[in-house]
Amino acid sequence: MRRLAAYVLLLALLLSGCGVQMSPDEAQESIQVIAMDTAMLITTYGERSPAAAYACEDTIRDLEAKLSRTDPDSEVSRLNASAGEPVEVGEDLGVLLELARYYHGSTGGAFNIAIAPVVSAWGFTGDSFRVPSQAELDGLLELAQDGPGYNGSLSHGGADRYSLAPGQAIDLGGIAKGYAADKIVKVLQEHDVPRANINLGGNVLAYGGRPDGTPWRVGIQDPARVGEQNAFAGVLALTDSFAVTSGGYQRYFEQGGKTYHHIIDPATGYPADSGLTSVTVVAGLGEGDGSGFPGTMCDAYSTALFIMGEEQALAFWRDETQWGEEGCPFDLVLVTEDGRVVVTKGLADRFTLDESSGYTLEVASQ
Ligand code: ADP
Ligand code: MG
Repeated sequence: MRRLAAYVLLLALLLSGCGVQMSPDEAQESIQVIAMDTAMLITTYGERSPAAAYACEDTIRDLEAKLSRTDPDSEVSRLNASAGEPVEVGEDLGVLLELARYYHGSTGGAFNIAIAPVVSAWGFTGDSFRVPSQAELDGLLELAQDGPGYNGSLSHGGADRYSLAPGQAIDLGGIAKGYAADKIVKVLQEHDVPRANINLGGNVLAYGGRPDGTPWRVGIQDPARVGEQNAFAGVLALTDSFAVTSGGYQRYFEQGGKTYHHIIDPATGYPADSGLTSVTVVAGLGEGDGSGFPGTMCDAYSTALFIMGEEQALAFWRDETQWGEEGCPFDLVLVTEDGRVVVTKGLADRFTLDESSGYTLEVASQ
């Protein structure tokens, strides 16, 4: 009888999920999504993980349909084709236009969504790569010079009308994935997901920690070894954080022995050539610039700081992080052309250099 009781107890324990495998908390769903020109990997945990993962996918697809420059039916395409006429935009695009306007100002013009005609001239919009003439670039840069000169202001929670100057166009490729990551946080919260790892191609959302309670490990691709799998400059240990990387290695073409990549310096019209090979911006879920969109901020700043170069990027970090009372708004990992990895002090004990990468590690302080 005692034996039977023991078996019953054992069975009950197993069914109630005492073993690691059977804990309802350990359920997991991983889906791959190809969207926004990117291979994405969404991994959610918890009882509602399948529904949560597919809801994340829906969010990404919905944003892509609104924000794509290559889909003629998207809101962005309608705005780009509006030739100066005001166009009604939905809430997502409205928020992004306002955020983009803010980042244009805060980065001294380095982040500029009105650079779109220049991005297209290089062929990055339709994969028909070419090196434009200086005269062509000069003409297009004039259109982009003052940033997105749209008018109209966003009314609370509603649709609004925006117009671009005639000839202008916008490209949200530098912030769309960051914004998607911000929206995904809400989806995960709504589904009571305890943890998730969302990789939107260079845009990582480390939500919660790993099932064993340790932080997520986020590898920083070594820009010098792009062809190799798992060739990292180093690894970040992150919990409840965004880590967004911009690098010239992510999209480029070669012509006449030279490499041209997709991040355009609005000062020259040419791919940025600042001595950095990648910039990663890291912020906590509730941190950032106070706008409530820390993922979008990381994305905009990774693009802009890559253009600025090491010295200006660190000066920008020092300026922007001074006022942060509830913690540092963001931190940086900079990989330089001359073989260094510079991390800002908030990441000093969260970053581990990959010894085989050959880089030397420096820590930047305030
Ligand atoms: P990725 O999209 O590869 O993750 P980024 O976030 O750095 O990398 O964004 C690069 C994209 O941003 C380009 O493909 C282009 O669409 C757009 N872009 C290029 N230069 C700029 C710029 N100076 N400001 C804003 N957006 C830019
Ligand atoms: Mg970006």
